[in-house]
Amino acid sequence: MEKLRTLLQHIDDRGYKAYKQLQGTYNFNLFQLTIDHVQGDPFALPSRISIQLSAEQHGISPEYWGNRIRQTALEDFLGRKIAAAIKKIVKGRRGTGRSGEMEIAVNGQQVLRRNTVLMDNDQLEARLLFALPGSGRSVLAKEAMAMFFDELPQVVETSLIWMQKSFAEIKQHIEQIEDQDALRSQLSQLGAVAFVAEGSLLPRQSGIDDHPLSAGVPFKSPAELKRSVTLPHQGVIYGMVIPLGITLIVGGGFHGKSTLLQALERGIYNHIPGDGRELVVTTTSAIKIRAEDHRAINQVDISPFIATLPGNRTTNSFSTDNASGSTSQAANIIEALECHCKCLLIDEDTSATNFMIRDQRMRKLVPDSQEPITPLLYRIRELYEEEGVSSVIVTGGSGDYLAVADRVIMMDNYKPFDVTEKANSLAGDRPTTDTTSIPFQNKQLRKINLTIKPLPRQREAKILVREQRLLEYGRERIDLSSVEQLLDSGQTEAIGRILAWCHQHHPEQKSGLIATLQQVLGQVEQQSLDILLPWKAGHLALPRLYELAAAANRLRKET
Ligand code: ADP
Ligand code: MG
Repeated sequence: MEKLRTLLQHIDDRGYKAYKQLQGTYNFNLFQLTIDHVQGDPFALPSRISIQLSAEQHGISPEYWGNRIRQTALEDFLGRKIAAAIKKIVKGRRGTGRSGEMEIAVNGQQVLRRNTVLMDNDQLEARLLFALPGSGRSVLAKEAMAMFFDELPQVVETSLIWMQKSFAEIKQHIEQIEDQDALRSQLSQLGAVAFVAEGSLLPRQSGIDDHPLSAGVPFKSPAELKRSVTLPHQGVIYGMVIPLGITLIVGGGFHGKSTLLQALERGIYNHIPGDGRELVVTTTSAIKIRAEDHRAINQVDISPFIATLPGNRTTNSFSTDNASGSTSQAANIIEALECHCKCLLIDEDTSATNFMIRDQRMRKLVPDSQEPITPLLYRIRELYEEEGVSSVIVTGGSGDYLAVADRVIMMDNYKPFDVTEKANSLAGDRPTTDTTSIPFQNKQLRKINLTIKPLPRQREAKILVREQRLLEYGRERIDLSSVEQLLDSGQTEAIGRILAWCHQHHPEQKSGLIATLQQVLGQVEQQSLDILLPWKAGHLALPRLYELAAAANRLRKET
Protein backbone atom coordinates (compact mmCIF):
# COMPACT_ATOMS: atom_id res chain seq x y z
CA MET A 1 0.00 0.00 0.00
CA GLU A 2 2.81 2.36 0.89
CA LYS A 3 4.64 1.42 -2.28
CA LEU A 4 1.58 2.39 -4.32
CA ARG A 5 1.38 5.70 -2.47
CA THR A 6 5.02 6.47 -3.20
CA LEU A 7 4.65 5.54 -6.84
CA LEU A 8 1.64 7.80 -7.21
CA GLN A 9 3.41 10.75 -5.59
CA HIS A 10 6.30 10.16 -7.91
CA ILE A 11 4.24 10.26 -11.13
CA ASP A 12 1.97 13.19 -10.26
CA ASP A 13 1.47 15.54 -13.19
CA ARG A 14 3.48 13.34 -15.53
CA GLY A 15 2.13 11.97 -18.82
CA TYR A 16 -0.87 9.66 -18.39
CA LYS A 17 1.16 6.69 -19.60
CA ALA A 18 3.20 6.92 -16.39
CA TYR A 19 0.25 5.17 -14.72
CA LYS A 20 1.51 2.01 -16.44
CA GLN A 21 4.17 1.75 -13.73
CA LEU A 22 1.41 0.90 -11.26
CA GLN A 23 0.70 -2.53 -12.74
CA GLY A 24 1.28 -5.10 -10.01
CA THR A 25 0.00 -6.36 -6.68
CA TYR A 26 -0.32 -4.42 -3.40
CA ASN A 27 -1.29 -5.50 0.10
CA PHE A 28 -3.96 -3.41 1.74
CA ASN A 29 -5.12 -4.05 5.28
CA LEU A 30 -8.35 -5.78 4.39
CA PHE A 31 -7.56 -7.14 0.95
CA GLN A 32 -5.05 -7.42 -1.81
CA LEU A 33 -5.24 -5.09 -4.81
CA THR A 34 -4.00 -6.08 -8.24
CA ILE A 35 -3.71 -3.48 -10.95
CA ASP A 36 -4.07 -5.81 -13.90
CA HIS A 37 -3.98 -3.48 -16.88
CA VAL A 38 -3.55 0.26 -17.23
CA GLN A 39 -4.96 2.13 -20.19
CA GLY A 40 -2.83 4.64 -22.04
CA ASP A 41 -5.31 7.54 -21.97
CA PRO A 42 -8.29 8.74 -19.98
CA PHE A 43 -10.72 8.48 -22.91
CA ALA A 44 -10.28 4.75 -23.47
CA LEU A 45 -12.17 1.99 -21.69
CA PRO A 46 -11.12 2.25 -18.00
CA SER A 47 -8.19 0.28 -16.58
CA ARG A 48 -8.77 -3.13 -15.03
CA ILE A 49 -8.14 -3.88 -11.38
CA SER A 50 -9.05 -6.78 -9.14
CA ILE A 51 -9.43 -7.30 -5.43
CA GLN A 52 -8.51 -10.52 -3.66
CA LEU A 53 -9.67 -11.53 -0.22
CA SER A 54 -8.55 -14.65 1.63
CA ALA A 55 -11.10 -16.84 3.42
CA GLU A 56 -10.20 -15.17 6.74
CA GLN A 57 -10.62 -11.76 5.17
CA HIS A 58 -14.09 -12.28 3.66
CA GLY A 59 -15.46 -14.55 6.36
CA ILE A 60 -18.09 -16.22 4.18
CA SER A 61 -18.65 -19.85 5.03
CA PRO A 62 -18.14 -22.44 2.26
CA GLU A 63 -21.73 -23.66 2.66
CA TYR A 64 -22.76 -20.59 0.65
CA TRP A 65 -21.01 -21.76 -2.46
CA GLY A 66 -21.29 -25.51 -2.11
CA ASN A 67 -22.60 -26.18 -5.61
CA ARG A 68 -22.70 -24.45 -8.98
CA ILE A 69 -26.10 -22.82 -8.45
CA ARG A 70 -25.17 -21.51 -5.01
CA GLN A 71 -21.81 -20.30 -6.25
CA THR A 72 -23.35 -18.35 -9.13
CA ALA A 73 -25.98 -16.95 -6.77
CA LEU A 74 -23.36 -15.88 -4.22
CA GLU A 75 -21.10 -14.32 -6.85
CA ASP A 76 -24.07 -12.43 -8.24
CA PHE A 77 -25.05 -11.27 -4.77
CA LEU A 78 -21.57 -9.95 -3.98
CA GLY A 79 -21.30 -8.27 -7.38
CA ARG A 80 -24.54 -6.40 -6.72
CA LYS A 81 -23.30 -5.41 -3.27
CA ILE A 82 -20.16 -3.95 -4.83
CA ALA A 83 -22.22 -2.11 -7.46
CA ALA A 84 -24.41 -0.62 -4.72
CA ALA A 85 -21.38 0.38 -2.64
CA ILE A 86 -19.74 2.05 -5.65
CA LYS A 87 -22.89 4.01 -6.29
CA LYS A 88 -22.99 5.18 -2.70
CA ILE A 89 -19.33 5.81 -2.02
CA VAL A 90 -17.49 6.67 -5.23
CA LYS A 91 -17.52 10.29 -6.27
CA GLY A 92 -17.37 9.36 -9.94
CA ARG A 93 -16.19 11.47 -12.79
CA ARG A 94 -13.39 13.88 -12.00
CA GLY A 95 -10.92 15.13 -14.58
CA THR A 96 -10.79 14.34 -18.28
CA GLY A 97 -12.78 11.68 -20.15
CA ARG A 98 -13.94 8.91 -17.87
CA SER A 99 -11.50 9.88 -15.08
CA GLY A 100 -12.65 8.84 -11.64
CA GLU A 101 -15.28 6.26 -12.61
CA MET A 102 -15.43 2.87 -10.94
CA GLU A 103 -17.58 0.11 -12.36
CA ILE A 104 -18.50 -3.54 -11.98
CA ALA A 105 -20.30 -5.59 -14.61
CA VAL A 106 -23.12 -7.08 -12.57
CA ASN A 107 -26.56 -5.73 -13.38
CA GLY A 108 -29.98 -6.59 -14.77
CA GLN A 109 -32.77 -8.57 -13.18
CA GLN A 110 -31.35 -11.97 -14.08
CA VAL A 111 -28.67 -13.99 -12.35
CA LEU A 112 -26.11 -14.98 -14.94
CA ARG A 113 -22.91 -16.91 -14.62
CA ARG A 114 -20.14 -14.32 -14.97
CA ASN A 115 -16.43 -13.90 -14.46
CA THR A 116 -16.86 -10.70 -12.45
CA VAL A 117 -16.79 -12.06 -8.91
CA LEU A 118 -15.17 -15.44 -8.44
CA MET A 119 -15.41 -17.41 -5.23
CA ASP A 120 -13.41 -20.51 -4.49
CA ASN A 121 -11.77 -22.20 -1.53
CA ASP A 122 -8.62 -20.12 -1.75
CA GLN A 123 -9.99 -16.68 -2.24
CA LEU A 124 -12.71 -14.30 -3.29
CA GLU A 125 -11.83 -12.16 -6.28
CA ALA A 126 -13.76 -9.20 -7.67
CA ARG A 127 -12.85 -7.53 -10.96
CA LEU A 128 -13.56 -3.88 -11.54
CA LEU A 129 -13.09 -1.17 -14.09
CA PHE A 130 -11.19 1.73 -12.65
CA ALA A 131 -10.72 4.95 -14.62
CA LEU A 132 -7.46 6.42 -13.39
CA PRO A 133 -7.92 10.18 -13.16
CA GLY A 134 -6.14 12.51 -15.52
CA SER A 135 -6.24 16.18 -16.35
CA GLY A 136 -5.87 16.37 -20.10
CA ARG A 137 -3.20 13.75 -20.58
CA SER A 138 -1.41 14.12 -17.26
CA VAL A 139 -1.71 12.13 -14.06
CA LEU A 140 -3.89 13.47 -11.25
CA ALA A 141 -2.19 11.64 -8.38
CA LYS A 142 -4.20 13.25 -5.60
CA GLU A 143 -7.48 12.12 -7.14
CA ALA A 144 -6.07 8.66 -7.77
CA MET A 145 -5.04 8.41 -4.13
CA ALA A 146 -8.54 9.31 -3.04
CA MET A 147 -9.85 6.46 -5.20
CA PHE A 148 -7.33 3.88 -4.03
CA PHE A 149 -6.94 4.71 -0.37
CA ASP A 150 -10.27 6.20 0.56
CA GLU A 151 -13.05 5.00 -1.73
CA LEU A 152 -11.89 1.51 -2.68
CA PRO A 153 -11.34 0.29 0.91
CA GLN A 154 -14.76 1.64 1.86
CA VAL A 155 -16.34 -0.14 -1.11
CA VAL A 156 -14.64 -3.42 -0.18
CA GLU A 157 -15.50 -3.06 3.47
CA THR A 158 -19.19 -2.42 2.93
CA SER A 159 -19.67 -5.06 0.26
CA LEU A 160 -17.23 -7.93 0.66
CA ILE A 161 -16.34 -8.21 4.32
CA TRP A 162 -18.96 -10.31 6.04
CA MET A 163 -17.38 -11.62 9.25
CA GLN A 164 -19.47 -9.43 11.51
CA LYS A 165 -22.56 -9.10 9.36
CA SER A 166 -25.83 -10.92 9.33
CA PHE A 167 -25.85 -13.62 6.70
CA ALA A 168 -29.63 -13.61 6.43
CA GLU A 169 -29.47 -11.53 3.26
CA ILE A 170 -26.95 -13.78 1.52
CA LYS A 171 -28.95 -16.82 2.57
CA GLN A 172 -32.18 -15.38 1.21
CA HIS A 173 -30.60 -14.57 -2.16
CA ILE A 174 -29.06 -18.01 -2.51
CA GLU A 175 -32.08 -19.96 -1.35
CA GLN A 176 -34.41 -17.98 -3.56
CA ILE A 177 -32.28 -18.83 -6.57
CA GLU A 178 -31.89 -22.43 -5.55
CA ASP A 179 -35.69 -22.66 -5.37
CA GLN A 180 -36.05 -21.30 -8.89
CA ASP A 181 -33.69 -23.89 -10.15
CA ALA A 182 -35.51 -26.64 -8.27
CA LEU A 183 -38.81 -25.44 -9.70
CA ARG A 184 -37.41 -25.54 -13.22
CA SER A 185 -36.12 -29.05 -12.72
CA GLN A 186 -39.59 -30.18 -11.60
CA LEU A 187 -41.23 -29.06 -14.83
CA SER A 188 -40.84 -32.39 -16.56
CA GLN A 189 -42.47 -34.21 -13.61
CA LEU A 190 -45.35 -31.77 -13.90
CA GLY A 191 -45.60 -32.50 -17.62
CA ALA A 192 -45.13 -28.80 -18.18
CA VAL A 193 -42.96 -26.42 -20.16
CA ALA A 194 -43.48 -23.53 -17.76
CA PHE A 195 -44.81 -22.57 -14.34
CA VAL A 196 -46.11 -19.17 -13.23
CA ALA A 197 -46.51 -18.90 -9.46
CA GLU A 198 -49.49 -17.25 -7.83
CA GLY A 199 -48.77 -13.66 -6.98
CA SER A 200 -46.01 -13.22 -9.55
CA LEU A 201 -45.68 -9.74 -10.93
CA LEU A 202 -45.16 -9.92 -14.68
CA PRO A 203 -45.41 -6.39 -16.10
CA ARG A 204 -42.31 -4.20 -16.28
CA GLN A 205 -41.83 -0.49 -15.68
CA SER A 206 -41.53 0.14 -19.40
CA GLY A 207 -40.26 -1.35 -22.62
CA ILE A 208 -36.76 -0.21 -21.70
CA ASP A 209 -36.89 -0.67 -17.95
CA ASP A 210 -36.91 -4.27 -16.74
CA HIS A 211 -37.81 -3.42 -13.14
CA PRO A 212 -41.23 -4.60 -11.95
CA LEU A 213 -44.28 -2.39 -12.36
CA SER A 214 -45.12 -2.20 -8.69
CA ALA A 215 -48.72 -1.17 -9.28
CA GLY A 216 -49.29 -4.19 -11.56
CA VAL A 217 -51.95 -6.83 -11.05
CA PRO A 218 -50.44 -9.96 -9.42
CA PHE A 219 -50.81 -13.23 -11.29
CA LYS A 220 -53.70 -15.55 -10.43
CA SER A 221 -53.95 -19.03 -11.92
CA PRO A 222 -57.10 -20.43 -13.46
CA ALA A 223 -58.37 -23.36 -11.35
CA GLU A 224 -58.01 -25.85 -14.23
CA LEU A 225 -54.26 -25.25 -14.57
CA LYS A 226 -53.44 -24.67 -10.93
CA ARG A 227 -50.88 -27.04 -9.42
CA SER A 228 -48.79 -27.18 -6.26
CA VAL A 229 -45.06 -27.72 -6.11
CA THR A 230 -42.80 -28.24 -3.11
CA LEU A 231 -39.60 -26.23 -3.15
CA PRO A 232 -36.57 -26.95 -0.96
CA HIS A 233 -36.68 -23.63 0.91
CA GLN A 234 -40.08 -22.04 0.45
CA GLY A 235 -42.01 -25.27 0.75
CA VAL A 236 -45.36 -25.59 -1.02
CA ILE A 237 -46.25 -23.00 -3.64
CA TYR A 238 -49.12 -22.80 -6.13
CA GLY A 239 -49.24 -21.60 -9.67
CA MET A 240 -50.28 -22.14 -13.26
CA VAL A 241 -48.64 -24.82 -15.37
CA ILE A 242 -48.31 -24.54 -19.10
CA PRO A 243 -48.48 -28.22 -20.01
CA LEU A 244 -46.58 -29.91 -22.80
CA GLY A 245 -48.34 -29.59 -26.14
CA ILE A 246 -49.74 -26.57 -27.90
CA THR A 247 -50.96 -23.70 -25.79
CA LEU A 248 -52.61 -20.58 -27.15
CA ILE A 249 -52.72 -17.33 -25.27
CA VAL A 250 -55.68 -15.35 -26.58
CA GLY A 251 -57.54 -12.25 -25.51
CA GLY A 252 -58.23 -8.67 -26.45
CA GLY A 253 -55.54 -6.14 -27.20
CA PHE A 254 -53.73 -4.73 -24.16
CA HIS A 255 -54.95 -7.46 -21.81
CA GLY A 256 -51.48 -8.78 -20.95
CA LYS A 257 -50.81 -11.52 -23.53
CA SER A 258 -47.36 -10.39 -24.64
CA THR A 259 -46.41 -9.59 -21.06
CA LEU A 260 -47.09 -13.20 -20.08
CA LEU A 261 -45.11 -14.51 -23.05
CA GLN A 262 -42.18 -12.21 -22.26
CA ALA A 263 -42.10 -13.48 -18.70
CA LEU A 264 -41.94 -17.02 -20.11
CA GLU A 265 -39.07 -16.01 -22.43
CA ARG A 266 -37.11 -14.74 -19.45
CA GLY A 267 -38.10 -17.76 -17.37
CA ILE A 268 -35.11 -19.65 -18.78
CA TYR A 269 -33.00 -17.51 -16.40
CA ASN A 270 -33.12 -17.15 -12.64
CA HIS A 271 -34.17 -13.78 -11.27
CA ILE A 272 -33.06 -11.72 -8.30
CA PRO A 273 -35.35 -11.56 -5.27
CA GLY A 274 -37.88 -8.76 -5.65
CA ASP A 275 -38.08 -9.01 -9.43
CA GLY A 276 -41.64 -10.35 -9.43
CA ARG A 277 -40.74 -13.18 -11.83
CA GLU A 278 -38.70 -15.24 -9.35
CA LEU A 279 -41.11 -18.12 -9.65
CA VAL A 280 -41.89 -17.82 -13.34
CA VAL A 281 -39.78 -20.55 -14.84
CA THR A 282 -39.59 -22.03 -18.30
CA THR A 283 -37.77 -25.07 -19.55
CA THR A 284 -34.21 -24.04 -20.46
CA SER A 285 -34.61 -25.14 -24.06
CA ALA A 286 -37.53 -22.76 -24.73
CA ILE A 287 -36.76 -20.45 -27.62
CA LYS A 288 -38.48 -17.28 -28.74
CA ILE A 289 -39.15 -17.42 -32.44
CA ARG A 290 -39.90 -14.31 -34.45
CA ALA A 291 -39.75 -12.94 -37.94
CA GLU A 292 -36.47 -11.23 -38.66
CA ASP A 293 -36.51 -9.61 -42.10
CA HIS A 294 -33.12 -8.92 -43.64
CA ARG A 295 -31.22 -11.47 -41.59
CA ALA A 296 -28.58 -13.60 -43.30
CA ILE A 297 -29.38 -17.31 -43.62
CA ASN A 298 -26.67 -19.88 -44.29
CA GLN A 299 -27.53 -23.28 -45.69
CA VAL A 300 -30.63 -24.02 -43.69
CA ASP A 301 -33.13 -26.67 -44.72
CA ILE A 302 -36.37 -24.70 -44.57
CA SER A 303 -38.24 -27.12 -46.85
CA PRO A 304 -40.76 -28.17 -44.17
CA PHE A 305 -42.15 -24.64 -44.36
CA ILE A 306 -41.09 -23.37 -47.72
CA ALA A 307 -41.04 -25.49 -50.82
CA THR A 308 -39.37 -24.65 -54.11
CA LEU A 309 -39.29 -20.92 -54.67
CA PRO A 310 -39.84 -19.05 -57.94
CA GLY A 311 -37.13 -19.83 -60.48
CA ASN A 312 -37.01 -23.45 -59.28
CA ARG A 313 -34.92 -22.46 -56.30
CA THR A 314 -34.82 -25.36 -53.87
CA THR A 315 -34.95 -24.76 -50.15
CA ASN A 316 -33.25 -27.75 -48.54
CA SER A 317 -30.05 -25.79 -48.22
CA PHE A 318 -31.28 -22.26 -48.32
CA SER A 319 -28.98 -19.26 -48.13
CA THR A 320 -29.69 -15.58 -48.47
CA ASP A 321 -28.19 -12.32 -47.33
CA ASN A 322 -31.58 -10.74 -47.03
CA ALA A 323 -34.36 -12.97 -45.76
CA SER A 324 -38.07 -12.16 -45.91
CA GLY A 325 -40.35 -12.29 -42.88
CA SER A 326 -41.51 -15.83 -43.60
CA THR A 327 -38.17 -17.33 -44.66
CA SER A 328 -36.48 -15.78 -41.61
CA GLN A 329 -39.09 -17.19 -39.26
CA ALA A 330 -38.82 -20.61 -40.89
CA ALA A 331 -35.03 -20.56 -40.55
CA ASN A 332 -35.32 -19.45 -36.94
CA ILE A 333 -37.45 -22.50 -36.15
CA ILE A 334 -35.17 -24.95 -37.94
CA GLU A 335 -32.11 -23.49 -36.19
CA ALA A 336 -33.90 -23.71 -32.85
CA LEU A 337 -34.70 -27.38 -33.46
CA GLU A 338 -31.08 -27.99 -34.29
CA CYS A 339 -30.18 -26.61 -30.86
CA HIS A 340 -32.49 -29.16 -29.22
CA CYS A 341 -35.33 -26.72 -28.61
CA LYS A 342 -38.31 -28.36 -26.93
CA CYS A 343 -40.60 -25.36 -26.72
CA LEU A 344 -41.29 -22.59 -29.22
CA LEU A 345 -42.47 -19.24 -27.90
CA ILE A 346 -44.22 -17.18 -30.55
CA ASP A 347 -46.07 -13.86 -30.48
CA GLU A 348 -48.21 -12.77 -33.39
CA ASP A 349 -46.97 -9.22 -32.74
CA THR A 350 -43.55 -10.24 -34.05
CA SER A 351 -44.51 -12.90 -36.59
CA ALA A 352 -44.93 -12.89 -40.36
CA THR A 353 -48.66 -13.35 -41.03
CA ASN A 354 -48.12 -15.55 -44.09
CA PHE A 355 -45.87 -17.79 -42.04
CA MET A 356 -48.52 -18.22 -39.35
CA ILE A 357 -51.77 -18.63 -41.35
CA ARG A 358 -53.55 -18.63 -44.71
CA ASP A 359 -57.25 -18.14 -44.62
CA GLN A 360 -59.89 -19.99 -46.63
CA ARG A 361 -60.59 -17.22 -49.11
CA MET A 362 -56.94 -16.76 -49.88
CA ARG A 363 -56.58 -20.51 -50.36
CA LYS A 364 -59.39 -20.39 -52.90
CA LEU A 365 -57.78 -17.56 -54.81
CA VAL A 366 -54.22 -18.91 -54.67
CA PRO A 367 -54.35 -22.71 -54.48
CA ASP A 368 -52.06 -24.42 -51.96
CA SER A 369 -50.21 -26.08 -54.81
CA GLN A 370 -49.02 -22.67 -56.03
CA GLU A 371 -48.00 -21.35 -52.66
CA PRO A 372 -44.48 -22.25 -51.54
CA ILE A 373 -45.22 -21.45 -47.90
CA THR A 374 -46.78 -24.01 -45.59
CA PRO A 375 -47.86 -21.94 -42.61
CA LEU A 376 -46.85 -23.10 -39.15
CA LEU A 377 -50.53 -23.88 -38.54
CA TYR A 378 -50.14 -27.08 -40.57
CA ARG A 379 -46.86 -28.15 -39.02
CA ILE A 380 -47.38 -27.34 -35.40
CA ARG A 381 -49.11 -30.58 -34.38
CA GLU A 382 -46.56 -32.60 -36.25
CA LEU A 383 -43.79 -30.74 -34.46
CA TYR A 384 -45.29 -31.80 -31.17
CA GLU A 385 -46.31 -35.32 -32.08
CA GLU A 386 -43.23 -36.30 -34.09
CA GLU A 387 -40.50 -34.14 -32.58
CA GLY A 388 -41.80 -33.56 -29.04
CA VAL A 389 -41.63 -29.79 -29.49
CA SER A 390 -44.30 -27.85 -27.57
CA SER A 391 -45.47 -24.37 -28.53
CA VAL A 392 -46.85 -21.39 -26.69
CA ILE A 393 -48.45 -18.99 -29.13
CA VAL A 394 -49.94 -15.58 -28.50
CA THR A 395 -52.71 -14.86 -30.94
CA GLY A 396 -55.47 -12.32 -30.73
CA GLY A 397 -56.37 -12.11 -34.38
CA SER A 398 -56.71 -15.56 -35.89
CA GLY A 399 -59.06 -18.31 -34.76
CA ASP A 400 -57.45 -20.90 -37.04
CA TYR A 401 -55.09 -22.06 -34.31
CA LEU A 402 -57.99 -23.04 -32.05
CA ALA A 403 -58.27 -26.26 -34.06
CA VAL A 404 -54.69 -27.30 -33.34
CA ALA A 405 -54.40 -26.23 -29.72
CA ASP A 406 -54.35 -28.55 -26.72
CA ARG A 407 -55.40 -25.71 -24.49
CA VAL A 408 -56.37 -22.10 -24.71
CA ILE A 409 -55.68 -19.49 -22.06
CA MET A 410 -57.55 -16.23 -22.33
CA MET A 411 -56.09 -13.10 -20.79
CA ASP A 412 -58.81 -10.79 -19.57
CA ASN A 413 -57.78 -7.68 -17.67
CA TYR A 414 -54.41 -9.31 -16.89
CA LYS A 415 -56.13 -12.41 -15.48
CA PRO A 416 -55.79 -15.78 -17.21
CA PHE A 417 -58.83 -18.02 -17.80
CA ASP A 418 -58.82 -21.53 -19.17
CA VAL A 419 -61.21 -21.34 -22.13
CA THR A 420 -60.19 -24.63 -23.75
CA GLU A 421 -63.66 -26.12 -23.70
CA LYS A 422 -65.34 -23.19 -25.34
CA ALA A 423 -62.53 -22.92 -27.88
CA ASN A 424 -62.91 -26.60 -28.77
CA SER A 425 -66.59 -26.15 -29.50
CA LEU A 426 -65.75 -23.36 -31.92
CA ALA A 427 -62.67 -24.86 -33.45
CA GLY A 428 -63.95 -27.12 -36.21
CA ASP A 429 -61.78 -29.77 -37.86
CA ARG A 430 -58.03 -29.84 -37.83
CA PRO A 431 -56.84 -28.02 -40.91
CA THR A 432 -55.07 -29.92 -43.66
CA THR A 433 -53.08 -28.77 -46.63
CA ASP A 434 -51.75 -30.17 -49.84
CA THR A 435 -48.77 -27.90 -50.27
CA THR A 436 -45.67 -29.34 -51.78
CA SER A 437 -43.42 -28.78 -48.79
CA ILE A 438 -41.97 -31.76 -47.02
CA PRO A 439 -43.15 -32.94 -43.61
CA PHE A 440 -40.74 -33.25 -40.71
CA GLN A 441 -41.06 -37.01 -40.51
CA ASN A 442 -37.88 -38.79 -41.48
CA LYS A 443 -36.18 -35.55 -42.31
CA GLN A 444 -32.63 -34.82 -41.36
CA LEU A 445 -32.72 -31.14 -40.55
CA ARG A 446 -29.04 -30.48 -40.55
CA LYS A 447 -26.92 -27.71 -41.80
CA ILE A 448 -24.58 -28.68 -44.51
CA ASN A 449 -20.82 -28.21 -44.08
CA LEU A 450 -21.14 -24.92 -42.35
CA THR A 451 -18.06 -23.78 -40.47
CA ILE A 452 -17.27 -20.60 -38.62
CA LYS A 453 -15.35 -18.07 -40.60
CA PRO A 454 -11.88 -17.22 -39.35
CA LEU A 455 -11.26 -13.82 -37.87
CA PRO A 456 -9.05 -11.77 -40.15
CA ARG A 457 -5.45 -11.42 -39.10
CA GLN A 458 -3.91 -8.95 -36.71
CA ARG A 459 -5.44 -5.53 -36.46
CA GLU A 460 -8.82 -6.46 -37.84
CA ALA A 461 -9.19 -9.48 -35.57
CA LYS A 462 -11.31 -7.47 -33.18
CA ILE A 463 -14.27 -8.67 -31.20
CA LEU A 464 -16.29 -5.73 -30.01
CA VAL A 465 -19.74 -5.32 -28.55
CA ARG A 466 -21.31 -2.17 -29.94
CA GLU A 467 -24.65 -2.45 -28.26
CA GLN A 468 -26.17 -5.10 -26.06
CA ARG A 469 -26.94 -7.26 -29.10
CA LEU A 470 -24.64 -5.99 -31.79
CA LEU A 471 -21.41 -7.89 -32.17
CA GLU A 472 -18.47 -6.87 -34.30
CA TYR A 473 -16.60 -9.97 -35.28
CA GLY A 474 -13.55 -8.96 -37.27
CA ARG A 475 -14.86 -7.02 -40.22
CA GLU A 476 -18.38 -8.33 -39.84
CA ARG A 477 -21.28 -6.96 -37.84
CA ILE A 478 -23.50 -9.67 -36.43
CA ASP A 479 -26.89 -8.20 -35.67
CA LEU A 480 -28.50 -10.12 -32.82
CA SER A 481 -31.13 -7.52 -32.05
CA SER A 482 -33.93 -9.99 -32.80
CA VAL A 483 -32.43 -12.70 -30.61
CA GLU A 484 -34.59 -11.59 -27.74
CA GLN A 485 -33.43 -13.96 -25.03
CA LEU A 486 -29.89 -12.59 -25.27
CA LEU A 487 -29.80 -10.23 -22.32
CA ASP A 488 -26.37 -8.99 -21.48
CA SER A 489 -23.55 -7.42 -23.45
CA GLY A 490 -21.25 -9.76 -21.50
CA GLN A 491 -23.03 -12.69 -23.14
CA THR A 492 -22.68 -11.03 -26.54
CA GLU A 493 -18.95 -10.65 -26.09
CA ALA A 494 -18.59 -14.21 -24.80
CA ILE A 495 -20.37 -15.36 -27.97
CA GLY A 496 -17.80 -13.56 -30.14
CA ARG A 497 -14.95 -15.04 -28.11
CA ILE A 498 -16.38 -18.55 -28.29
CA LEU A 499 -16.77 -18.30 -32.07
CA ALA A 500 -13.13 -17.27 -32.36
CA TRP A 501 -12.12 -20.07 -29.99
CA CYS A 502 -14.05 -22.62 -32.05
CA HIS A 503 -12.39 -21.48 -35.19
CA GLN A 504 -8.95 -21.58 -33.62
CA HIS A 505 -9.24 -24.91 -31.82
CA HIS A 506 -11.65 -26.74 -34.11
CA PRO A 507 -11.10 -25.20 -37.54
CA GLU A 508 -12.90 -27.96 -39.41
CA GLN A 509 -15.69 -28.56 -36.96
CA LYS A 510 -15.85 -32.15 -38.07
CA SER A 511 -18.65 -33.09 -35.74
CA GLY A 512 -20.79 -30.29 -37.16
CA LEU A 513 -21.29 -26.68 -36.17
CA ILE A 514 -23.78 -27.16 -33.35
CA ALA A 515 -21.96 -30.09 -31.77
CA THR A 516 -18.73 -28.09 -31.84
CA LEU A 517 -20.34 -25.04 -30.28
CA GLN A 518 -21.91 -27.26 -27.65
CA GLN A 519 -18.60 -28.89 -26.88
CA VAL A 520 -16.81 -25.57 -26.42
CA LEU A 521 -19.66 -24.14 -24.37
CA GLY A 522 -19.46 -27.22 -22.13
CA GLN A 523 -15.75 -26.65 -21.72
CA VAL A 524 -16.29 -23.01 -20.73
CA GLU A 525 -19.00 -24.04 -18.27
CA GLN A 526 -16.77 -26.66 -16.74
CA GLN A 527 -13.68 -24.53 -16.51
CA SER A 528 -14.28 -20.80 -16.61
CA LEU A 529 -15.21 -17.94 -18.88
CA ASP A 530 -11.60 -16.89 -18.31
CA ILE A 531 -10.35 -19.44 -20.82
CA LEU A 532 -11.79 -17.22 -23.56
CA LEU A 533 -9.49 -14.28 -22.90
CA PRO A 534 -5.72 -14.10 -22.74
CA TRP A 535 -5.91 -11.40 -20.05
CA LYS A 536 -7.85 -10.96 -16.85
CA ALA A 537 -11.21 -9.22 -17.27
CA GLY A 538 -14.53 -9.37 -15.50
CA HIS A 539 -17.23 -8.54 -18.00
CA LEU A 540 -18.09 -11.87 -19.63
CA ALA A 541 -21.36 -13.73 -19.03
CA LEU A 542 -22.33 -17.21 -20.13
CA PRO A 543 -24.68 -17.48 -23.13
CA ARG A 544 -26.94 -20.42 -23.99
CA LEU A 545 -26.21 -22.73 -26.89
CA TYR A 546 -29.05 -21.20 -28.89
CA GLU A 547 -27.85 -17.60 -28.67
CA LEU A 548 -24.32 -18.74 -29.49
CA ALA A 549 -25.51 -20.67 -32.51
CA ALA A 550 -27.68 -17.72 -33.51
CA ALA A 551 -24.53 -15.65 -34.00
CA ALA A 552 -22.78 -18.37 -36.00
CA ASN A 553 -25.90 -18.77 -38.12
CA ARG A 554 -26.01 -15.06 -38.90
CA LEU A 555 -22.45 -14.70 -40.14
CA ARG A 556 -22.68 -13.62 -43.75
CA LYS A 557 -21.02 -15.77 -46.36
CA GLU A 558 -17.58 -14.79 -47.61
CA THR A 559 -17.94 -12.54 -50.65
P1 ADP B 1 -51.36 -7.53 -25.27
O1 ADP B 1 -50.19 -8.29 -25.78
O2 ADP B 1 -52.47 -8.40 -24.78
O3 ADP B 1 -51.85 -6.51 -26.24
P2 ADP B 1 -49.51 -6.44 -23.33
O4 ADP B 1 -48.99 -7.67 -22.69
O5 ADP B 1 -48.63 -5.76 -24.31
O6 ADP B 1 -50.93 -6.71 -23.97
O7 ADP B 1 -49.88 -5.49 -22.13
C1 ADP B 1 -50.47 -4.22 -22.35
C2 ADP B 1 -50.07 -3.27 -21.24
O8 ADP B 1 -50.56 -3.72 -19.99
C3 ADP B 1 -48.58 -3.12 -21.08
O9 ADP B 1 -48.27 -1.77 -20.88
C4 ADP B 1 -48.26 -3.92 -19.85
O10 ADP B 1 -47.14 -3.44 -19.15
C5 ADP B 1 -49.51 -3.80 -19.04
N1 ADP B 1 -49.72 -4.98 -18.19
C6 ADP B 1 -49.55 -6.27 -18.55
N2 ADP B 1 -49.81 -7.10 -17.52
C7 ADP B 1 -50.17 -6.31 -16.48
C8 ADP B 1 -50.53 -6.57 -15.12
N3 ADP B 1 -50.59 -7.80 -14.63
N4 ADP B 1 -50.80 -5.50 -14.34
C9 ADP B 1 -50.73 -4.25 -14.83
N5 ADP B 1 -50.39 -3.95 -16.08
C10 ADP B 1 -50.10 -4.95 -16.91
MG1 MG C 1 -49.18 -8.13 -27.66
